[in-house]
Amino acid sequence: MTRVYNFCAGPCTLPLSVLEEVQAEFLDFRGSGMSIIEHSHRGVEYDAVHEESLALFRQLFAVPDQFEILFLQGGGVLAFSMVPMNLLREGEEAAYIRSGTWGVGAEKDAAFYGSVYTGWDGKPHSYSRMPAPEEIEIRPGTRYLHITSNETIEGVRFVDFPRLGVPLVADMSSDYLSRPIPWELFDLVYGGAQKNLGPAGLAIVVVRRSVLESSNRKLGSYLRFDLQAEKRSLLNTPPMFAIYMMGKVLNWMRAVGGVAEMKRRADGRSGQVYRAIDESGGFYSSPVERDHRSVMNLVFRLPSDELDAAFLKGAEAVGFFNLKGHRSVGGMRASIYNAMPDEGVDALTAYMTEFAARHG
Ligand SMILES: *Cc1c(COP(=O)(O)O)cnc(C)c1O
Repeated sequence: MTRVYNFCAGPCTLPLSVLEEVQAEFLDFRGSGMSIIEHSHRGVEYDAVHEESLALFRQLFAVPDQFEILFLQGGGVLAFSMVPMNLLREGEEAAYIRSGTWGVGAEKDAAFYGSVYTGWDGKPHSYSRMPAPEEIEIRPGTRYLHITSNETIEGVRFVDFPRLGVPLVADMSSDYLSRPIPWELFDLVYGGAQKNLGPAGLAIVVVRRSVLESSNRKLGSYLRFDLQAEKRSLLNTPPMFAIYMMGKVLNWMRAVGGVAEMKRRADGRSGQVYRAIDESGGFYSSPVERDHRSVMNLVFRLPSDELDAAFLKGAEAVGFFNLKGHRSVGGMRASIYNAMPDEGVDALTAYMTEFAARHG
């Protein structure tokens, strides 16, 4: 078996040890004679898995008691709709930061369910940076400010979260559990599992309990955050396999040092790649302002389309996959999520340096 280095923006590479564990117990889960995905979601075997994943998520992300953790389906994108459905009541409005593709998408979907306005638009800056707090427009009475903590496609992130006295709602799909967050600023945090935490099919919503007390009840049952919390995300059949696998990834994270270690790794590894870019004498360039560069999705360009193609071809030949940038941005994107081994980053930077020396 040859495992390649997978720099995909999502779904992402997962720890090999986790994949092996899942494989080993797939046919006979803990001596029960059936697979975990064949168990009843109301049975004791699955219930233990569900509770363990909830507890690990709370522990690792240091989620305070004032918040509920929901395991839902529909990915980050359904949350674009569910958040305003639940949080925005008649006459209330929310501000959105258009920091890139996902921030724009979140605002567009929210506009179907409530009154929203753009607090800051990154388009005139070609999505090359996040706003400074004083650049964000907040109208009096704004219910929440929606941010995308890390823009997966443009490779730009909030290093510090805006402290403007308005509760934050954050899409953390692509930097979930890669850094600690100041919970006091947030009413809600959400994201899909498939970028840092497990396979696709699971979205995790962390919502302040006090928000649920006044959330909208005129919604179909699945869409109601308050009901989902009351039912421990077992209102209907949950995405059991994804929740089970995320539990394994979280166990792996805990064993290697938790979120603090994930942050240390991300800072170090992104620094290594950005150094290779910045020290290439202009061969590689980053379109993102230095202090706003993502530590998860590293976007860079080569001098020409021909060199882009040669770079990708050579990369695949040595086992680096999914380095092509998003079609809307072009160039390259190396997504270095929690589970990427250090050796993958070492090998990538060595390849980049060697390629620049050969073609520069
Ligand atoms: C991937 C991504 C999404 C979409 O997530 P799905 O789970 O595919 O719906 C939304 N926001 C961000 C920041 C993402 O990276």
